[in-house]
Amino acid sequence: MIKDNIAEVKENIERAAGKAKRDVCDVTLIAVSKTKPVEMIREAYDTGIRDFGENKVQEIMDKYDKLPGDIRWHMIGHLQTNKVKYIVDKVCMIHSVDSLKLAAEISKQAVKVSREIPILIEVNVGDEESKFGVTFDEAEDLIRQIAPLSGIKINGLMAVAPYTEDPEQNRGYFARLRQLSVDITSKNIDNVSMSVLSMGMTGDYGVAIEEGSTCVRVGTGIFGERDYSI
Ligand SMILES: *Cc1c(COP(=O)(O)O)cnc(C)c1O
Repeated sequence: MIKDNIAEVKENIERAAGKAKRDVCDVTLIAVSKTKPVEMIREAYDTGIRDFGENKVQEIMDKYDKLPGDIRWHMIGHLQTNKVKYIVDKVCMIHSVDSLKLAAEISKQAVKVSREIPILIEVNVGDEESKFGVTFDEAEDLIRQIAPLSGIKINGLMAVAPYTEDPEQNRGYFARLRQLSVDITSKNIDNVSMSVLSMGMTGDYGVAIEEGSTCVRVGTGIFGERDYSI
């Protein structure tokens, strides 16, 4: 089942890339495995998936030791500063940086373990109360403040678009995030690259790819609905 879901998601990714005349190799599929057991992650791994997304520190720690070492773990959820130290040596990228305080802590912990951690700046594209992230207007200032920190490298932008039944409703947000990444690239800020645009989830990854996403985070579409009660 997971295998079939992955095949279907990959087909959709190819179709969207084709539609936008983009190279499908420029889009990374992150399988969002939060709340899902290691057996299911292993099933996805066996189809060739190596990028997995989690949003809780404890879950990354629990799963990390039980699964192959060549998995690239992506931290995609809100991260508390006091927990950075637990995952600093385990994740390949932190997608959800939205404050100087958090970036400074990642920097400090990364330096301790001699790493340079790629991070993304999270933008709250829909200006939703319930979501984390900076506004479009705040992004550049935050990037300029974080850029000089050691042990950390800004690699791009991330967004969780509003939940909607109709992905077209999010097209404008994705286009605007891409434009922001182009604008920031043009400022040539030292130590800042805008090569990653992490946007698109189960409900809207096709549209996100058409608008330039380089990294889609798909959970439900691969692993099925999540049960938060267990
Ligand atoms: C849960 C989650 C996803 C995946 O959501 P689906 O709709 O299940 O694909 C993607 N990104 C973030 C940040 C998430 O927390």
